[in-house]
Amino acid sequence: MDKGKYFRRIPKVDILLEEAKTEGLLTKYDRNLVVAGIRQVTDELRSFLGGCEDEQAAAGRLDTVMEQLKERLEEQDRCRVQRVINGTGTILHTNLGRAPIGERHAEYLGHVVTGYSNLEYDLDTGRRGERYSHFEDLVCQITGGEAAVAVNNNAAAVLLILSALVKGKEAIVSRGELVEIGGKFRIPEVMEQSGGILREVGTTNKTRLEDYRAAMGENTGAILKVHTSNYRITGFTESVGIEELAGLGVEFGVPVIEDLGSGVMVDLSAYGLSHEPMVQESIRRGADIVCFSGDKLLGGPQAGIITGKKEYIDKMKRHPLMRAMRIDKFTVTVLEQIFREYRTPSRLEQNLPVFAMLSQSGKRLKEKAARLAGSLHIPEKDAVIQLESCDSQVGGGALPGEVIESCGVTVRGKTIACEELEEKLRKGKPPVICRVEKDRIWLDMRTIQDEEIPQVAERLNKIFGDMHI
Ligand SMILES: *Cc1c(COP(=O)(O)O)cnc(C)c1O
Repeated sequence: MDKGKYFRRIPKVDILLEEAKTEGLLTKYDRNLVVAGIRQVTDELRSFLGGCEDEQAAAGRLDTVMEQLKERLEEQDRCRVQRVINGTGTILHTNLGRAPIGERHAEYLGHVVTGYSNLEYDLDTGRRGERYSHFEDLVCQITGGEAAVAVNNNAAAVLLILSALVKGKEAIVSRGELVEIGGKFRIPEVMEQSGGILREVGTTNKTRLEDYRAAMGENTGAILKVHTSNYRITGFTESVGIEELAGLGVEFGVPVIEDLGSGVMVDLSAYGLSHEPMVQESIRRGADIVCFSGDKLLGGPQAGIITGKKEYIDKMKRHPLMRAMRIDKFTVTVLEQIFREYRTPSRLEQNLPVFAMLSQSGKRLKEKAARLAGSLHIPEKDAVIQLESCDSQVGGGALPGEVIESCGVTVRGKTIACEELEEKLRKGKPPVICRVEKDRIWLDMRTIQDEEIPQVAERLNKIFGDMHI
């Protein structure tokens, strides 16, 4: 094939730019972006022609330069952060943004942040206010703490607490609680970062009160209890409850800190789950400081909430790290909305998506699955579609190993591998994330919202419809 002939047909940049203008691309995109796009497309065309021996393919590429440019500009203009449909059944999926928030709260957030707000302005006095004041009283009412503050996440909360209260001194921690939480949060490393000295006591499976007592001394700065949220030691085990530790703390005059991980503020046994330690229980049993995540079982935005004795919280509020870790107006606004919901715990299922998902009945999950399956128009020769029971998980390092019975729609393609089907679902618009197991894909209805069902159906119908073109 005469390559020169094809190379000479590659349009010049200014010709393409003129054409882009008539096609309206210059009103849609900045001129520099269009020029850069043209360069990329023509460079690719050149290298394609260099390795091409097929005249028809070469002509095809040359004839569609404008379409390629349009596609590229559109692709580059697409938002990278997208809403995705979670078909995994894991309610607090850390990779998928953990807790979704409700429409009403999102709307209120939009209303507040599109204008100015009283973030740090006291409307009563006309003077400077405190950003934490908007939810501090609420947190205290719900948990029984004397004061409260919030930072960017619970990892930051632990670092701040140790930096403000333990620095240069020892924090006593059970060997069974030296946890690593996903994403490089390890208690020994956070301790080191804070300037606190880790004093390990007991063994991996058993730690007794005497172990803590034997370690208490001049240089003890605090007793730290960490909820082993993402794993469980079973069998021959023993640990010391917060009540006894609190007693020891009082005896020696040191604060007792509990990192609860998932900020549970309602009894989860009402949802058929095991009881997880609740923030208000920890305070009632004598913890001086409790911290927990905002976006785990609390059901809110990413944050680390700290509550407990005022004298300690005040120390944290004055600490330089506080300024470095402070939450912004987005988080403040949503956190207040979330905590307000806890004033009426009986309505959490209506008001917080996490609890709505947790509390769905088996009957409702089956109905949702039937609705999805019923909207699929995939011929029997192409796929086997079934309603099957499956297991949802809470996720987010809460209740490890505990599953909640759920209902899913499974699809086994007859001419498409399940990995390929999973990939197509993941890469489309909107992305649908599902699990692959036993040679089929699983769409767990627990984490798929009602209004998302038609979208999932449309995506699947299109994937299978396209196979016959
Ligand atoms: C999840 C968790 C953390 C970290 O919380 P983030 O809000 O994700 O930073 C810390 N400690 C425990 C016990 C946890 O479960």
